[in-house]
Amino acid sequence: MSVPRPKLTIATCSLAGCFGCHMSFLDVDEALADLIDHIEFDRSPLTDIKHVNPNGVDIGLIEGGLCNAENVEVLREFRARCKVLVAVGACAMYGGVPALRNGIPVSELVAEAYLGSDLLNPQVPQDPELPPLLQKVLPLHEVVPVDYTLAGCPPPAAAFKELIMAQLENRAPELPQQARRFD
Ligand code: SF4
Repeated sequence: MSVPRPKLTIATCSLAGCFGCHMSFLDVDEALADLIDHIEFDRSPLTDIKHVNPNGVDIGLIEGGLCNAENVEVLREFRARCKVLVAVGACAMYGGVPALRNGIPVSELVAEAYLGSDLLNPQVPQDPELPPLLQKVLPLHEVVPVDYTLAGCPPPAAAFKELIMAQLENRAPELPQQARRFD
């Protein structure tokens, strides 16, 4: 009798992203029912677990780039605790739409957002719990090493499935053309 294989543990998070990549992951539709026998979610918006298991997980999927200090902290936790770290989508790989702010000084952005003359009682939020903005939005690989990337905005559902199947079968993923192009 074969010994049942332990489930693959997966953590996911959205940093400076829009959750579109998570929606695409869920688009694996009925395949999710097959996968669910083989995977278990750890930290993720799907479970509401707030930290990656300190004992480590198999795969970390991160959508979104880094726009503030908290994003960097979360990324470092994922890198330290995930065997395989995956930059999911254009924002994680390049900064994406949030990086459009990179040509403008943060002070100008904050002034535009919070100090406009047409606002009632304009003021910059000072709550110490608000994480400081980075000067530029960064892709993940500029801060930690990344093992795989899934291209697209968002990457196709099939790319998530293949990545997970490859890990389950202990082989390199064969990503579909759509998940390897950059438009
Ligand atoms: Fe959203 Fe696209 Fe960025 Fe994914 S890559 S978080 S879908 S904007």
